Amino acid sequence: MASLASCIFCKIIKGEIPSMKLLETESVFAFMDIGPIAKGHCLVIPKHHAAKLTDLPDDQMADILPTIKKLAAATGAENYNILQNNGRPAHQVVDHVHFHIIPKPADAGDKEGLVIGWPTQKDLSKDDINKIFEEMKSKL
Ligand code: 5GP
Ligand code: ZN
Repeated sequence: MASLASCIFCKIIKGEIPSMKLLETESVFAFMDIGPIAKGHCLVIPKHHAAKLTDLPDDQMADILPTIKKLAAATGAENYNILQNNGRPAHQVVDHVHFHIIPKPADAGDKEGLVIGWPTQKDLSKDDINKIFEEMKSKL
């Protein structure tokens, strides 16, 4: 398992920093978020140290979905957001891949859980979108 000496989440996995551990498998660790934005807000992380999701080897993801399913059920939340930030401008603070599980009570409004203001659509014409589409396809 790759790890980074200074990474707080690697330290949590190793038990060097205490955490409220919920679940652990061979490749995944799950614990309560220390700064919850909703009751039951918790984090699922691969044990392999990678800063961004795209840095993570494919085989390190296998346990993530089953773990998210178990934890989402354990929160008792019918509604929830899964949030996964990559890079500072995208609001990533801890540079170790993590999935937030954030329950959203039906009547919470902007008082609890993730508050999303869906951004205004970019002013892109169908031609613009097509150009981007062709460029992306050429890289696949
Ligand atoms: P990000 O903005 O990087 O997606 O979210 C990082 C999350 O990690 C935040 O929700 C923050 O509360 C949580 N966090 C940061 N440091 C610690 C810690 O030492 N222990 C725990 N349990 N959570 C942490
Ligand atoms: Zn790490």
